[in-house]
Order: sequence, then C-alpha cells, then structure tokens
Amino acid sequence: MSSTITGTQVDHNGKQLGRVLVELNHVNKWYGDLHVLKDVSLKVRQGEVVVMLGPSGSGKSTTCRTINRLERIDEGTILIDGQPLPQEGRELQKLRQQVGMVFQSYNLFAHLSILDNVTLAPRKVLKMSKADAEKEALELLDRVGVAAQAHKYPAQLSGGQQQRVAIARALAMHPKVMLFDEPTSALDPEMVGEVLTTMTQLAQEGMTMIVVTHEMGFARHVADRIVFMADGRVLESESPEEFFTHPRTERAREFQSKIL
Ligand code: ADP
Ligand code: MG
Repeated sequence: MSSTITGTQVDHNGKQLGRVLVELNHVNKWYGDLHVLKDVSLKVRQGEVVVMLGPSGSGKSTTCRTINRLERIDEGTILIDGQPLPQEGRELQKLRQQVGMVFQSYNLFAHLSILDNVTLAPRKVLKMSKADAEKEALELLDRVGVAAQAHKYPAQLSGGQQQRVAIARALAMHPKVMLFDEPTSALDPEMVGEVLTTMTQLAQEGMTMIVVTHEMGFARHVADRIVFMADGRVLESESPEEFFTHPRTERAREFQSKIL
C-alpha cells in the first residue's frame, strides 16, 4: 500500500479502495502498568475489509474499542474520515455514530421487539420519523435475513438470528465503517455460518469493515488485508495470501501453527 492519504487505490484483488476512513497514528495505551497498545498505527480505506488476528490478550479488542472511544488512549491520534476523535461531548457522539460496532454478545434490548431494537437509535439520535425508521429497519432486517422475526422479542430468536439483528441495528445508523469484535465466538457452531454469510455479503456490498475473528476461512477469503497483533503491537499488515503463505514474523508463524 502506498502512503497517499486521499484518492483511490487498488488492492491486491483489484478492488477499488477509497479514502482513508480510519487512521490510528502511534497510539499508546496503558492499563495501570500494563502497556496494552504499543505504538499502534493503522489505516483503513473506504471499502476495505481488514481482519485483525492475534493471540488472546494481544490488544485486538482494545484497539477496536479505542476507535469509537469506548476506551481512551494515552498517546497518539485517531482520525475518523479525517476528523480527529475528540475526548468527549457532542462532536464525539457524532463521530461515534459513524462507526458501527458488533460485539461477541449481541446485547439486544430484551424488552423491545426486534423492530424496536433496530429503530430506537435512528429515531432518538437521527430523529427519524417512526414510519421512516420502520421502513428502513424492515429493509435492513430483510437484508440480514430476519425480516420474518421483526415483531418477535430477542429471546424468541436463535443466537445467529440475534447477531444478525445486531448487525442490522448497527447499519441503521448509516455508519461509514463497521467494527466486529469476535461476532461469532459466542454462537453455537451451526449458527456461525449464517452470520459469516451476512458479513461476507456486507463486504461484497462495499462496506468498510474491521473484523476481529478466529474464523480463518473468512480471514483468507473475505479480508483485503490481515493485521496481525501480538503483545500490543501490530507485527504484520499484509494481504491474506502473503500472511498465510509467507508470515514474516516468528510470532505469526507460531500463531498459524496453532490455529491452522
Ligand atoms: P484481545 O482482544 O487481543 O484478546 P484485549 O484488547 O482484550 O486483547 O486485551 C489486551 C490486554 O489488556 C490483555 O492483557 C488484557 O488482560 C488487558 N485488559 C483488557 N481490558 C482491560 C481492563 N479494562 N483493565 C485492565 N486490563 C485490561
Ligand atoms: Mg478480544
């Protein structure tokens, strides 16, 4: 990848990538004495799918959480679509909306219907009318394959269905980028595929995505780039082909020998 900040670029798959949407520059973070993020720099372009791999405790979740300021950083800068991420206040709220997040636990509101789960933030935050929010929510639920469940409650859905609702709920805020932190790790094995299929579809539609996952099939076939972290550092940032056939670091080789 070249270092141009703006303009389009073509990745190894021939995919057109746009401007830089997420940029971390020399980010450092400590939890007390524990240096969890060590000089992390990362750029993600519009339309790019970045899969973050690395052993447990390497700082993948912390990196994701700093991108929408669920965690503060001690040093460095984070820019979302060229705008520095502020510490707090309304501006932070606005920038945070541009980043959708899907976690391992889907965290749907148990007392709200599926439809209300998806329309809540668009109505409250984007001030959409009920009718508009519901129309769009139904389209999104259809896109992730759970439109038939719109009037049910979360507990009536399978884990895979709930996670797909969580994806629709994040999309309803029209994010510029979607973060996924181990979205399939809490699912029963038979439901992993349906969530990965939804994510693959989203990637094919051109969504910019940062995905932490242990699903190596997804990493190999859907990612444009693999970012490998260990001990709070980004050690590799390569195409999947490069990463899986010629890992450059001993840590990556060791990681691959354990999971592949
Ligand atoms: P990963 O997602 O790669 O497994 P994490 O980002 O969750 O790694 O964690 C990185 C390191 O930070 C680990 O050593 C973890 O124990 C530590 N850590 C994570 N969250 C906290 C916290 N809230 N307080 C203290 N230490 C934490
Ligand atoms: Mg994690």
